[in-house]
Amino acid sequence: MSGPVEAASPTPVFRSDVTVELVKHSASDRDVLWAARVSTAGEQSLEELDADPARSQGLINYLMRDRHGSPFEHNSMTFFVSAPIFVFREFHRHRVGFSYNEESGRYRELQPVFYVPGPDRKLVQQGRPGQYVFVEGTPEQHKLVTEAMERSYRDSYAAYQEMLAAGVAREVARATLPVGLFSSMYATCNARSLMHFLGLRTKHELAKVPSFPQREIEMVAEEMEAEWARLMPLTHAAFNKNGRVAP
Ligand SMILES: Cc1cc2nc3c(=O)[nH]c(=O)nc-3n(C[C@H](O)[C@H](O)[C@H](O)COP(=O)(O)OP(=O)(O)OC[C@H]3O[C@@H](n4cnc5c(N)ncnc54)[C@H](O)[C@@H]3O)c2cc1C
Repeated sequence: MSGPVEAASPTPVFRSDVTVELVKHSASDRDVLWAARVSTAGEQSLEELDADPARSQGLINYLMRDRHGSPFEHNSMTFFVSAPIFVFREFHRHRVGFSYNEESGRYRELQPVFYVPGPDRKLVQQGRPGQYVFVEGTPEQHKLVTEAMERSYRDSYAAYQEMLAAGVAREVARATLPVGLFSSMYATCNARSLMHFLGLRTKHELAKVPSFPQREIEMVAEEMEAEWARLMPLTHAAFNKNGRVAP
């Protein structure tokens, strides 16, 4: 007679990408314009929205250049982000103008989805802090990284499963899981807080103040920026024109 059937442990999945989905938004360049024009037009500001497109672009550019930031706050974008935990640790340092909700390792069994750098990820760091450059890894280094990470991920997930199977609480067993495990969250922000995030978490030739973000959070930032640029093209253009410094 056979014993009780044990549930099969899920097979680990290894990913080298991140995903960002814009799930909800109320964000347009018009939101900046009516908020700014209340200064001079009062409640008439809504009626003036489409009056003169060139003037509108000029106004947004002026607000950005002179760092009149509050008109850029009257909008909202909610992103669903899937990325490794080490990216979320960096992301959650952005306290102002961001709201977060992340999946729970206490209330659900964590799935074995792990980050392994892709072949285009530069592997070798050279230089001093603040002056790092990253250069290509050799094929041998790529092979080592892939094999060592996958081995370690499989081992830690097996330990997690072993503890769960023995009745240990998820919140205890999860301690064995690494920061390369994928998590997911909703992040809601506005254009002003997003610009601050992008100024720090992207490396861009137009940036007046260079930043040196880790590539994986930059991958998230680039996808968020692409969505935002589509929603608020004038604001995005003014951000670039003024050195990618949040107003
Ligand atoms: C390339 C890079 C490397 C980093 N390395 C490290 C590291 O080694 N160790 C580490 O711990 N962190 C590190 N960080 C995180 C960094 O220190 C910030 O926590 C993170 O970038 C969030 O920035 P922020 O505080 O400006 O954003 P937010 O928290 O969103 O704040 C936005 C702005 O609000 C104002 N503000 C917010 N809170 C306060 C406050 N309490 N007092 C006064 N003003 C406030 C500031 O003007 C701030 O710029 C790094 C960040 C980057 C981009």
